[in-house]
Amino acid sequence: MLANLGYGSRKEVKQLLKSGAVMIDDIVVKDAKQQVDPTIQTVTLNGEVIEYKEYIYLLMNKPPGVLSATEDNVDETVIDLLEIEDQVYEPFPVGRLDKDTEGLLLITNDGQLAHRLLSPKKHVPKTYFAVIDREVTDEDVRAFAEGVVLDDGYKTKPGKLKILKSGTHSDVELTITEGKFHQVKRMFEAVGKRVIYLQRISMGPLVLDETLEPGEYRELTDEEIELLK
Ligand code: URA
Repeated sequence: MLANLGYGSRKEVKQLLKSGAVMIDDIVVKDAKQQVDPTIQTVTLNGEVIEYKEYIYLLMNKPPGVLSATEDNVDETVIDLLEIEDQVYEPFPVGRLDKDTEGLLLITNDGQLAHRLLSPKKHVPKTYFAVIDREVTDEDVRAFAEGVVLDDGYKTKPGKLKILKSGTHSDVELTITEGKFHQVKRMFEAVGKRVIYLQRISMGPLVLDETLEPGEYRELTDEEIELLK
């Protein structure tokens, strides 16, 4: 718990415990394996009460090849990449990115927030950077603005397509407000094109942090958490 809350690395926290600085309900605890329920017990460090956070909010730059799921028998998941104690917080990814998709993924244990962000009624915009296997045209921009018909007959809500570079391979940005299965890839399939690289760059007010390498994550700032509320 102390390491999760940023009071040091696991090794440093073990040293703190050894030194007798940590108490649970006025009893000195030296064993790092000691279980604690911070909702009913009081933990102190050098006599200071440790404020326990109920929720964690992590912004990850999801790497390719990793599943946005909590556990899997075969593949590594985004939760496996976390160094926090997931038994304490039980975090999960908010929505799904395909295994080969990279970029912004919010990981939290705040179910209500996740529900709000994912609710189709809220129309939370998600912006993707994509590389397409051929030329993307103004006609595609118009088709996406109208909504395109996917392979299962569903007509998408309008999507905002911006051509960044057009050629034999094109770079585009696409903003959509829904989250159908493989939606971006299927929207391009609907106009006869293929996504060869996909990265989410924003979700609602959250923007991918350029300083995060693929697989890295950081806690949301207080400002970012406020913006999500
Ligand atoms: N659309 C896709 O096709 N894949 C993703 O991972 C996200 C959106």
